[in-house]
Amino acid sequence: MKKTLRAVLMAGVAVGLAGCGSDEPTTTSQVKAEGETKEPIYQPHDWQPKTRDLDGFGREYTDAIKIVDGIYQARGTANAVMVETDEGNILIDTGLAGRPLQENTLADKLNRVNGKPFSHIVLTHAHADHYSGIKEFANDDTEVIVQREFLFNQQYLKDLIPHVMPKNKLFFPNDIPDLPDFGGLTTKLIQKAYPIVEPETVIDSEPYEFTTGGQKFVVYHTPGAEGYDNVSVWMPERKILFTGDVFGHMFGMWPNLTTIRGERARFTRPYVESLNLMLELEPEMIIPSHFYPVQGKEYIKETITRTRDAVQYVDDAVIEGMNAGKDVYTLMEEIKLPEELYLFEAHGKLSWGVKSIWEAYTGWFKMETANEMYSVPMQATYPELIELVGSTGPIINKAQSNLDSGELEKALYFIEMVEAVEPENAQNKKLKYDVLVAMKERANDINHYETMFLNDLVTRAKAAL
Ligand SMILES: [Zn+2]
Repeated sequence: MKKTLRAVLMAGVAVGLAGCGSDEPTTTSQVKAEGETKEPIYQPHDWQPKTRDLDGFGREYTDAIKIVDGIYQARGTANAVMVETDEGNILIDTGLAGRPLQENTLADKLNRVNGKPFSHIVLTHAHADHYSGIKEFANDDTEVIVQREFLFNQQYLKDLIPHVMPKNKLFFPNDIPDLPDFGGLTTKLIQKAYPIVEPETVIDSEPYEFTTGGQKFVVYHTPGAEGYDNVSVWMPERKILFTGDVFGHMFGMWPNLTTIRGERARFTRPYVESLNLMLELEPEMIIPSHFYPVQGKEYIKETITRTRDAVQYVDDAVIEGMNAGKDVYTLMEEIKLPEELYLFEAHGKLSWGVKSIWEAYTGWFKMETANEMYSVPMQATYPELIELVGSTGPIINKAQSNLDSGELEKALYFIEMVEAVEPENAQNKKLKYDVLVAMKERANDINHYETMFLNDLVTRAKAAL
């Protein structure tokens, strides 16, 4: 008990230093107490996250963090947030299922705060890191609340586990344990054990209100940057908005409209409507389900406004380009955000967003060649092409000159042509490694997914040398 009390007091000191509800810019140095080595409590207003900020967040906190009176955050891959009331606790998201892999789960941390049961659990969307820990919190009397689309998402994501899980492991290696595969058996067992939630309350587009222990909560459908099922929870008296992943992993980011780890697209226009709703609510604090709570009414308003305007700007630009007859590759190059609409790209990437918006509106068919309609990829022509050239030598030379001039994508196409007929060609393997290393350097550690995928390719290319 003493340990819990001390942690709560320490968090309280940090909250005090940060100045709850203040509109003063919060910086990293302000939110850390002197001699304090832990992460800040609140998101610094000058935060520019890099890829590895996604890893191991909050691991140094052995207890839940008190954000403000009666509101506690347990940090993890995704956070679980608890609101105390006189009639039981309210929980927003559960975090990843922790047992039997962890001793001190998010549930352990929150249960140590007051030990009361959870009367309501709001699941902000159907990603495993937000709801798979539900059994550790729910009891027979708990009301579980989701949006209707959650039901569809949790099922199709479960159906696709064997396809998607290896990709998740590549992008988030420390969040998914290393388990022996046994010829795919492990994945099938995980798929079987994967929870399917049967919620008591399913909302559509209408807000859902409940009052517990004298505190009012409103659940809004806020389709956003991590799916159409996204909901937010509003405490009108306290002006606090719990946003799940409506903004994506981070507040102030360009949205990850199609994640390359594999999932259906997220749509821009419903997201813009959700951002408009949030602006109408005028929150003074935002508590998302990843990383830090955000404080400062003006900072929140400015960042949501900028996010809304940036998404609208790119949506307009893609449609304008499509109607002007431009191809998607040209638009991926051309469309840039004006300086005043800057959003960081640690999680979503603007050029991928352009492609995603295009395909979300009109699908995969670009009407550039009849071959788009059929099942023979261009790679099928590579062996015949090399036969026509007579040897792989000129192709390798061309790849080298493309690498030298910085045309990395073209270099990789030529390398893959050679790979199709001479997979063990040592010169070609070395060239592939050099091109991938150059791509990784160009990526500059900005976007998490781009960096992690290139890391994996570089590792494999190196091992093949
Ligand atoms: Zn998430």
